[in-house]
Amino acid sequence: MIKKCSICGKRDAYIYRQSSGEYICNKCMDRVIMKNVKKTLAKTRKLSSNMNILVYGTWLAPTESLIAVRTVPRVESRYKAHVIISVPREMSSYVRNIVNPESSVVVYNYVIKKRLLADCILEDIDNARKIALDNSVDVIITPYPRMLLVKAGLQAIMSGRSDLVKASRQVHDTAPPVVSALFRLEKEFILEYAYASGIPLLQPKHACSDMGAGIILLNVLKDSHEVEFNSLRTLEVLTDFVEPSDNSSLIPFREEKQ
Ligand SMILES: [Zn+2]
Repeated sequence: MIKKCSICGKRDAYIYRQSSGEYICNKCMDRVIMKNVKKTLAKTRKLSSNMNILVYGTWLAPTESLIAVRTVPRVESRYKAHVIISVPREMSSYVRNIVNPESSVVVYNYVIKKRLLADCILEDIDNARKIALDNSVDVIITPYPRMLLVKAGLQAIMSGRSDLVKASRQVHDTAPPVVSALFRLEKEFILEYAYASGIPLLQPKHACSDMGAGIILLNVLKDSHEVEFNSLRTLEVLTDFVEPSDNSSLIPFREEKQ
């Protein structure tokens, strides 16, 4: 029997969202994404409107990047923010099909380097900061899903590079702030949403797709959203265990208090 959507109560459900126990229709999935992105952005919004916002697309999380470039401008249009979209050159054709034709799109060249994923993320953020500086940006929005950050952290720790996890915690110390738009959403929901919305499911490009520890963890935990949502905290404890630190703030993006 087809279930009705738990949110609108009218349309047929498209997915069952395990983390909330809801059946959700296609249209309400969009509402859930919008609501969560809005909440995450509200956390960093200063009271002024008319901000310059950079949505940074990356091959480290391509499908999530496409969702972010589609969603953030819709959320921000209510605040008269100026949204600049920045994507790797090879991703720009996908982006053009998704965003408003008048959108400002800055393309950059992405080179795959063989290094740890945490290195790639930090390099990505450096690159985003350069683009932000050139465009007087107030806030940088990244698309990294939680699980990617967890995998990056685990891989770094297991490679004896817990300094990278610490460095990622310090991302907030430099302006402009960096916010991960989809941080409140679990990976499964993000991918279901992409599929339902006709957003291409693109393979991430980086030199560390075979990530050992991360892959093992993912296989063990893939059905447990609760673990996914607590995993960054676990990672933080693990890093402090390996190399104690005074700074125990969560890595590396803000999260709204529940
Ligand atoms: Zn619905």
